[in-house]
Amino acid sequence: MPFADFHGNAEIVHRLREMMARERLPHAIVLAGGRGSGKYTLALMLAQALNCLSPTETDGLPDFCGNCSNCTRIGQAADLDARFDEAVEARENLRETDKRETRLFVQTHPDVLVVPPDPPQMMIKVDQVRRVIETIYYRPAEGREKVYIFTDSAFMKEAANSLLKVLEEPPEFATIFLLTENPGELLPTIRSRSMVFTLAALPAEDIEKYLAEHRPDWKPPQRALVARLSEGAVGRARSFDLEAYSAARGHAVAILKSALVGGEHGELFKITESYRPGAEGKEKIEQLIRTLYSLLRDLMFIQSGEPEMIRNTDIAAELKRLAESADFDWIAAAADRLAEVDRGLRRNLLRSLSLDAFAAALEK
Ligand SMILES: [Zn+2]
Repeated sequence: MPFADFHGNAEIVHRLREMMARERLPHAIVLAGGRGSGKYTLALMLAQALNCLSPTETDGLPDFCGNCSNCTRIGQAADLDARFDEAVEARENLRETDKRETRLFVQTHPDVLVVPPDPPQMMIKVDQVRRVIETIYYRPAEGREKVYIFTDSAFMKEAANSLLKVLEEPPEFATIFLLTENPGELLPTIRSRSMVFTLAALPAEDIEKYLAEHRPDWKPPQRALVARLSEGAVGRARSFDLEAYSAARGHAVAILKSALVGGEHGELFKITESYRPGAEGKEKIEQLIRTLYSLLRDLMFIQSGEPEMIRNTDIAAELKRLAESADFDWIAAAADRLAEVDRGLRRNLLRSLSLDAFAAALEK
């Protein structure tokens, strides 16, 4: 029962399947929702249901088998990050001239084309939409429905205008999915030709339940933490890197502690020293900054008498102790400073230096 594997937003899934049953599924569907809310998973499931070779029914509505050759091949696109990396690597291996003319696609089934934003700008480009236009008017080869999934709404202007032309006259056998975190990024004329469905965030308890099933290796307080940090997105919870988060949080707590209650300067130096320039260092420091923000946010909640709102529930006692030494002004100033480090990072200022300055500026 594959649709049963989709977590949350049952009403939206139900409505889409109902439309499918009545053969009234719109030709253009906007799936909106935060990162990890299941937009891509749902679009692929619908692509499978539209093309399944032994379609089934559950709760009286169309479902898919998950095992036939169409379901299997479409399902191979499920790990979007991995397929995307493969496509990028394949392009990297081309000759210079071909590289420039090659646009990125993920295609594991002849009738289902996934269109990711094209690096390095990470925008949907006009040549990608051109490929859609070139193929969409041919009947599906091995399935019943041509499916196109745009995984992001960052369209270059010319690309958006080209897409609009397709949406004005889509063939009866094609469905286009537009996935977006913010439907406002799409041209109003594109939105008005589509039906918009917004996937809501799930309550933390639902995500904890999901994690109890899928991450039995995590302890209950860890599952509670991840459920809160993933902000209602099952996809984020599932792929959450608890180890990296814990490491970054250890550093973040040490930085705040040293600023608020004093401490070992040598220890702090060792931490900031470990943040080095380079691609890996960049990711690491971005994680540290996000983690610092989440701790400051928690301190703010404790300060304002709402400790039940904190996300880092597993270290609540330690945060409460820290909050005793902080006040609103300090937290606000720290957040400002952090924003400065963040901006400096974008301009590629030396990382460990700006971190040191940040830690020093926080001292009371
Ligand atoms: Zn199937």
